[in-house]
Amino acid sequence: MNVIKRYLQSFLLFELLQGLMVTGRHLFARKITVQYPEECTPLSPRFRGLHALRRYPNGEERCIACKLCEAICPALAITIESQERADGTRRTTLYDIDLFKCIYCGFCEESCPVDAIVETRFFEFHFENRGENIITKQQLLTVGDKFEKQIAADRAADARYR
Ligand code: SF4
Ligand code: SF4
Repeated sequence: MNVIKRYLQSFLLFELLQGLMVTGRHLFARKITVQYPEECTPLSPRFRGLHALRRYPNGEERCIACKLCEAICPALAITIESQERADGTRRTTLYDIDLFKCIYCGFCEESCPVDAIVETRFFEFHFENRGENIITKQQLLTVGDKFEKQIAADRAADARYR
């Protein structure tokens, strides 16, 4: 019986008609072309864009130079050097990320015990000169300062789903 059914379906081009019906449905459906860059699609709070280093509200940098992010980075994109300060705390003297090596996996932000290194929603960046792919500590802190409000809101939204 199945053989006859399959034979008839193939003889009457049933699958072709099914395919054409799908095409026809999409032909008259509302178009959803996004006029980028004037329009953007929504981004998840977990979006992994350009990195940033965060500060506490009093301006103190969060990073305690534990180097967990450097150790876990599968692309070996992070380079950290650190020094003890006069007050006995440890801070980085160098924190570089090679954005050519980075695969935006998010392991660095997952591993950070103080939520210092994060990935922002910002993805519209480019390089014009050799060496600009290395983003320095000062640049990372500047990105953090610029997007802190959004970062804090995204962290709060993310925590609600955990
Ligand atoms: S996102 Fe992944 S690859 Fe990029 S710096 Fe962080 S851990 Fe390394
Ligand atoms: S960013 Fe976080 S994980 Fe990386 S060294 Fe600083 S405190 Fe440690």
